[in-house]
Amino acid sequence: MKTAAQLDHAHVWHPFTQMRDWLRREPTVIVSGKGTTLRDAKGRSYLDANASIWTNLHGHAHPKINAAITRQLKKIAHSSALGLANEPASVLAGRLVKAAEIYDLRMTNDAPPEKAARKSDIANRKLQKVFFSDDGSTALEVALKLAYEYTRRTRGAKSRPRFLSLDGAYHGDTIGAVSLGHIDLFHKAYGGMLFATDKVMSPYCYRCPFNRAKPERQDARKYRRCHWECIGQVERKFAARKKKGENYAAFVFEPLMQGAAGLIAQPSGWLRQATDIARAHGALLIADEVMTGFGRTGVTCHVTDEAVERVSRKPEDARLFACARTGIQPDFLCVAKGLTGGYLPMAATLTTQKVFAAFLGEYEEFKTFFHGHSFTGNQLGAAASLASLDILQSRESVRRRAELQQELQQELATLWSLPHVGDIRQVGLVAGIELVKDWKTRKPFALRERAGIRVCEAMARHGVLTRPVGNVIVLMPPYGTTRGQLKKMVAAVRAGIESLHS
Ligand code: PMP
Repeated sequence: MKTAAQLDHAHVWHPFTQMRDWLRREPTVIVSGKGTTLRDAKGRSYLDANASIWTNLHGHAHPKINAAITRQLKKIAHSSALGLANEPASVLAGRLVKAAEIYDLRMTNDAPPEKAARKSDIANRKLQKVFFSDDGSTALEVALKLAYEYTRRTRGAKSRPRFLSLDGAYHGDTIGAVSLGHIDLFHKAYGGMLFATDKVMSPYCYRCPFNRAKPERQDARKYRRCHWECIGQVERKFAARKKKGENYAAFVFEPLMQGAAGLIAQPSGWLRQATDIARAHGALLIADEVMTGFGRTGVTCHVTDEAVERVSRKPEDARLFACARTGIQPDFLCVAKGLTGGYLPMAATLTTQKVFAAFLGEYEEFKTFFHGHSFTGNQLGAAASLASLDILQSRESVRRRAELQQELQQELATLWSLPHVGDIRQVGLVAGIELVKDWKTRKPFALRERAGIRVCEAMARHGVLTRPVGNVIVLMPPYGTTRGQLKKMVAAVRAGIESLHS
């Protein structure tokens, strides 16, 4: 009988992978996982330092999630949401709506909120309706189609809804999501299939042409010297669109950090200012929290003992979404990856009563949202998601996440001594380490030098798995990662970067 590795080489086409390179090497075949550790067919173990492509929250084979899936399996695995309801999906919708609430502006860390204006915004746009789908891309497609049609129905059928997203944006690989994307390497080839969208400068402080500061050994957001020109660009973009006769239908963004764009962390205040401009120009806000959701951006805004104490006394107050934490009220919130704790493919698009109402009508008016997938509202996924939310909102998990956030910060600080480290960007429980030829000049490695890939290959030899985004090394530990495991991850990053010399 052929081995899994042989069958893989014979038949499997891997995502985002140059298959010629893949076929040159025997693949690592994962056979099991427990907590932060993955095991392969040869008995080797690895730390899962990118949480299985940003999905896993509480570690592998978590007893509570396994038990929830098993319990559900004894009842039913799946029945259709076309014409039928089911219990776990209904309960989950209620829990997601609650988790997405902005309940206390004091918890926000972005620019000081003008409370009155924000309060009415929050009240009017409370997320109340949940449309389930399968993955991050489909969650974005749902938001796009809803926003498009909502705009036409409210502005008039002659309206030509147009979307604005961020430079370097990545929102998935289906055609709508790709249209919103601005990574030439992934997206350019498909230009002929896409609809037109616009992009605006993203706040990439480390490589910002407006940042006049010389490189320092700390996160560029801290030492940047600029006049918020990136916000000026957002302002100009919206003004230019208005001049053309019709405002943007929606502004699409990842809050606090753009993932696949290169782990680009937004300086404090950017999100508030950018979304305020969008709102002032009548644009809907579409928040893509596929990567940032479910606690990935941290438990509290500033990890002080007092803040940690407060959230661990009331774990349900630990905001799970970057938007809810920063007091930004979107019209659409897209979640996937971590929704099920990273166990099963499931996604959701949350939206407002207002958007929902635009699709209500008599049957023959055909105002129905004609969209759906076979596995929409899947029971197994919903059961896993509910168990994951229970864990996320437990005191134990909140406390551990707060500690892990601090530990990550301390461990990452040890990497500044490496000359190939240009920038380290941490937001909560995710970090990007940007590799450069020389930190003093910010000179980048050419992509063909494969610096990011080489570092990750060296890390794998040290028993730590992650994938780079270009020349940015991603660390996204599952929340149950111990201090010892975290030290091992960062030591592997160090060894990997040091190996670039050899
Ligand atoms: N949005 C963001 C921010 C993502 O990071 C991703 C995937 N990395 C997606 C959307 C697409 O998600 P999926 O791969 O589940 O379709």
